[in-house]
Amino acid sequence: MDLSVVVPVYNEAQNLEALHQELHEALGPTGLDYEAVFVDDGSRDESFAILARLAASEPRDVVVRLRKNFGQTAALSAGFDHAHGEIVVTMDGDLQNDPRDIPQLLAKLGEGYDIAAGWRFHRQDKFLTRRLPSKLANGLISLITKVRLHDYGCTLKAFRAEVIQNVRLYGELHRFIPAIASLMGVSIAEVKVNHRPRRAGKSKYGLGRTPRVLLDLITVKFLLSYATRPIQIFGLWGLWSFAAGFLLALYYTVLKFVFHEPLWGKPGLILAVLLLFVGVQFISIGLLGEMQVRTYHEAQDKPIYAVRQIINGRPRSPRG
Ligand code: UDP
Ligand code: MG
Repeated sequence: MDLSVVVPVYNEAQNLEALHQELHEALGPTGLDYEAVFVDDGSRDESFAILARLAASEPRDVVVRLRKNFGQTAALSAGFDHAHGEIVVTMDGDLQNDPRDIPQLLAKLGEGYDIAAGWRFHRQDKFLTRRLPSKLANGLISLITKVRLHDYGCTLKAFRAEVIQNVRLYGELHRFIPAIASLMGVSIAEVKVNHRPRRAGKSKYGLGRTPRVLLDLITVKFLLSYATRPIQIFGLWGLWSFAAGFLLALYYTVLKFVFHEPLWGKPGLILAVLLLFVGVQFISIGLLGEMQVRTYHEAQDKPIYAVRQIINGRPRSPRG
């Protein structure tokens, strides 16, 4: 199969029929062998009933119904697990993304990119609560992950299946898929896409999402930079801290035992002790991290590299 379009759906009853029609109208003429995977994320309205009815007369529709509301990231993840296409496209189920942009994204993959990310160039959301925080977040994410995109939050994206199938998602991480995938060394293109105001149903997010995105950013930064070598980062901080504490403590020791100066009234002593303690703790955390990395990679037989291509490769007997 060429293409799977994964659509997370949570209480979008009034949008589904139009979405269904737009989607098939946009993809039918391409002649691609495709499927539309709708993931009903525990909707409390008639979303599932509508999806089921639409799917009854459209064999290219797949409906995955989750037992409760797990959140957009989990819904997408469920969609990926049920997708068969060589290319996976994600898009919102609220008609804000335009299915007519999908061929553009596919064209980018045709040029050889692994990910084509939509950029809502004229984003149709409220300025103060949505566009402004999103702008700041995008700047920060770009700075920290070094994966330069204008719009991480746009769900409309296209991925090669082998990229998406190797990304494990937790929390609110779906906006970071390109950043996480960059760990495998993927090429990413950006495509300006249409964005429409929400006409029916309610947005599931508000300002409250901002701190969550920041926390996820810390996780992603850690995954990107240190996940395979935690002692290198924690150990380094620990060494510096310990060395500073040691010198400071040495200074006070000399003061006390060589120059016989009293130590009371010298707050620097507390700092020395603190630095020594923190130093030891950082190094210990680094060591624990090293254990974790081994468990993580070896339990899942997860290599620390990603291969693009092998020429004249021969199957080997399994390890061990
Ligand atoms: N969504 C979901 N589960 C949730 C929240 C949202 O599947 O818990 C879906 C929702 O139905 C929509 C998409 O994720 O298709 C994006 O949500 P929304 O339009 O509310 O986000 P916004 O566009 O306002 O950022
Ligand atoms: Mg929306």
